[in-house]
Amino acid sequence: MADPQQVARILVITAHPDDVDFGAAGTIAQWTDAGLEVSYCIATNGDAGGSDRSLSRAEMAAIRQAEQTAAAKQVGVHDLHFLGYPDGRVEASLALRRDLARVIRLLRPDRVVCQSPERNYLRMGASHPDHRAAGSAALDAVYPDSRNPFAFPELLTEEKLEPWTVREVWISGSPTPTTYVDITDTFARKVAALRCHASQISDPDSLEEFLRGWLSRAATQGGLPEGRPAEAFQVVQTG
Ligand SMILES: [Zn+2]
Repeated sequence: MADPQQVARILVITAHPDDVDFGAAGTIAQWTDAGLEVSYCIATNGDAGGSDRSLSRAEMAAIRQAEQTAAAKQVGVHDLHFLGYPDGRVEASLALRRDLARVIRLLRPDRVVCQSPERNYLRMGASHPDHRAAGSAALDAVYPDSRNPFAFPELLTEEKLEPWTVREVWISGSPTPTTYVDITDTFARKVAALRCHASQISDPDSLEEFLRGWLSRAATQGGLPEGRPAEAFQVVQTG
């Protein structure tokens, strides 16, 4: 892992509004408490989410953007970038890689958090096709696109965005995690962030219990003491 003293800026890239809160909000609250600057970039507008068929998809997209913005505030994040790709149809396309490379060059993060491009057979929910595609595009944007001046040359020549090297990536939902963050102290804020996604949560009463069970199992896998909730990541050196 990069020296935490050297990490100042972090960019979280996800497919949908709410993904960051399921995967990483407890860890992010610790980082913002420590004074690190965290930004979110969400690839889709989330318009295929929820089960309310009476809402138009445009209404759903607007609701989800507002929900993600409110959830971010719960964990100290105020800088959000919505790319507006259609929900359910994300591909690790050159267009998405360019858009992510643009955000990376603009924000110059030391660390990127993204979703796993690998299918996790133990957690199918984490392996939604949009998650895998967004994760793949994010890793391609980290290496090589954002650091190579000749990748998407218009970013440099037209937009004056200098190349930038991200030094490490934390992959959420990986089948092979390497790092378990004990989020005991920020668990309540993670729950509060997830409750902001009201359009997506069908049973808010059972949310906390579900999270406690799931995150405690992760902690046990990571060798943390019994009953501690943990978020798991595969940390990859990229710089
Ligand atoms: Zn998702």
